[in-house]
Amino acid sequence: MKIGFFSARPYDRQFFDAANAAVGHDIEYFEDRLTHQTASLAAGFESVCCFVNDDLGAAAVERLAAGGTRLIALRCAGFNHVDLSAARRFGVAVARVPAYSPNAVAEHTVALMLALNRKIHRAYNRVREGNFSLDGLLGFDFAGKLIGVVGTGQIGAIVVRIMHGFGCCVLAHDVQPNPECERLGALYVPLEELLARSDVVTLHCPLTPQTRHLINAERLALMKAGVMLINTSRGALVDTRAAILALKTGRLGALGIDVYEEESGLFFEDLSNRVIQDDVFTRLLTLPNVLVTGHQAFFTAEALAKIAEVTLENVRAFETGSGTLHLVSPPT
Ligand code: NAD
Repeated sequence: MKIGFFSARPYDRQFFDAANAAVGHDIEYFEDRLTHQTASLAAGFESVCCFVNDDLGAAAVERLAAGGTRLIALRCAGFNHVDLSAARRFGVAVARVPAYSPNAVAEHTVALMLALNRKIHRAYNRVREGNFSLDGLLGFDFAGKLIGVVGTGQIGAIVVRIMHGFGCCVLAHDVQPNPECERLGALYVPLEELLARSDVVTLHCPLTPQTRHLINAERLALMKAGVMLINTSRGALVDTRAAILALKTGRLGALGIDVYEEESGLFFEDLSNRVIQDDVFTRLLTLPNVLVTGHQAFFTAEALAKIAEVTLENVRAFETGSGTLHLVSPPT
């Protein structure tokens, strides 16, 4: 099938070309993000392949459909950036990669926790400048601390397992408790209790209308003074402005994020020669107890190989009607 591949980066080509050698789709790579303005590039392509910051709002989906696209093959798990009702209305199917490497995201989550706690980002810069002072680098032992895990699906469950290995106690919150986490000793409690008791809170639930700004000013006020908050799920789970205020008062002792609510147009681009216009984001970058990575939690060789394999299998299954097709939304 002809695939118009948006937001293509060199590493995407590397892994998709390797996986496609066995499948033989006709892939054309576009560096552009998919938006309603760039959707016309896909005219004549039966399928498009998109990533997390492509804009698949109604206007873009309508243009894709007008150009003959019948399948949006997402090369990610989340689909909060797709207008599914528009896709249904215009007869475009949407498929995704439901799981690729939950280990990749869970391990990055723990990397943020450890780095923030022991101030590795600050120590790295200090030592390079010949400053070996330890002032300001004091951390704590993770062993014995209470870790609050919100969302215990594939990724959250691995975080529970890893933190259990560190000797932590885990409080969990999910709309559907996971027996595997209960077996590890995680105690399911209401969100408010988890927030009030945890030393570290880490978010692993999807972004939905119910979870948008799950961590807002009121919930931050419930949290322990000096708590560490980690978000590797979706940016809009956290009200960033409220988090900045909480960092200023010390309510939040540390913030580690791999995702940001206004990340599209920022992340995955080299903006090092430009002035970043987002003042909320640049404020975050000035704080010593904030560690930001640019949506790289998924970025391991194992995850990219799996993403390419499952995405191309989705396209093949859609084309042939056989095999496994991970549909989010069928065409109507
Ligand atoms: P999953 O579907 O396996 O687990 C999500 C869990 O959240 C489920 O157990 C679900 O019941 C729970 N949940 C849903 N609504 C909830 C609510 N209101 N309160 C509490 N829990 C709720 O998903 P996953 O594979 O573990 O992924 C989790 C999130 O990680 C994804 O939604 C995605 O946004 C994000 N993610 C980020 C990256 C990255 O690179 N940073 C990569 C992959 C996934």
